[in-house]
Amino acid sequence: MWKDSILASEGVTGVFHAAAGAPGATATLVVSSAGVARVDTAGAIFAQAPLGDLDISDRLGSVARRVIFPDGGLFETADNDGVDRLTGRKGPGFIASLERFHPRLILFAALIVALGVGVYRYALPAMVEIAVAWTPPAVPALMSKGALQSLDATVFGATTLDKERQHALLSGFNDLARHTPRGLAGYTLNFRSGGAIGPNAFALPDGNVVLTDELVALAKEDDEMIFGVFAHELGHVEHADSLRRLYRAAGVTGLIMLIGGDIGSGAEDILVQGAGLAALSYSREQEASADRYSVELMIKAGKDPTAIARFFRVLAEELGDKDRQDFFSTHPDTPGRIEEVERLAKELAGKD
Ligand SMILES: [Zn+2]
Repeated sequence: MWKDSILASEGVTGVFHAAAGAPGATATLVVSSAGVARVDTAGAIFAQAPLGDLDISDRLGSVARRVIFPDGGLFETADNDGVDRLTGRKGPGFIASLERFHPRLILFAALIVALGVGVYRYALPAMVEIAVAWTPPAVPALMSKGALQSLDATVFGATTLDKERQHALLSGFNDLARHTPRGLAGYTLNFRSGGAIGPNAFALPDGNVVLTDELVALAKEDDEMIFGVFAHELGHVEHADSLRRLYRAAGVTGLIMLIGGDIGSGAEDILVQGAGLAALSYSREQEASADRYSVELMIKAGKDPTAIARFFRVLAEELGDKDRQDFFSTHPDTPGRIEEVERLAKELAGKD
């Protein structure tokens, strides 16, 4: 009668031994919907018993599974999935082992996640610092040369500023450069007509600073505002912000190659990408510390430390809502920064 109640699912094929050590015969294990297990071949039943009375070995990799019947009959099969499927509901060994391993599995998964977060949060920043410290000066020089050459070939034109204005701006630039650790020799000011780039000022990692005519036009006659921007850009150079940004983008793998001295194609890609990355925006933290640098350097050079805040206001008025690739779009969150610059200038001026 139990022939009618056999599950529709397929049986599991294996070998049946009437007793341990007895010769085996190919057989099939099936389980009825009433929970009765049966081993048979075509026409002959070898063994049968309720599932709960079976002794089923735990799953262990691809080791053959043993199902022992109360009368000593042994069914063996390599079909682990099949045994789980047939007996999973009531297989005590399997459920027990699952419960035993569960907390350990969760702990293991948590450890893997923590390791990944740890590498990203702690190892990567530490490796970025090592890479910055070990970078030979030839690397930023090459990156900068490439970036400026490609900008000159594509968007920039020759400056149309008259010699007098250029001289006044250069003299302010040099005043600031003299008060930096890199000194006067560490910086070069380049005048350009901005073309599609428009009003902008940016520093390349080797200390070349580019100022566009369009930015000078926005400042009208207030050169002090441009000096504030220079001081901000010198801050990016002094802090090696471009390199940090570049190495962060390279990630752990790229840094291992770079620090390991394996200048293979991967490391070469990182350096080639550098030219493009020189035009990307800095992080919020980098901007904040460059603003701070501007305030401090302007005070050291005897200039107005709030000049850059004044310039942010002009930028917000002139370029406010427009969506473009200029100094303003790469220097967002202007109201907050104006406030911070003015607060800092007041704080530092109070100290002297
Ligand atoms: Zn900046």
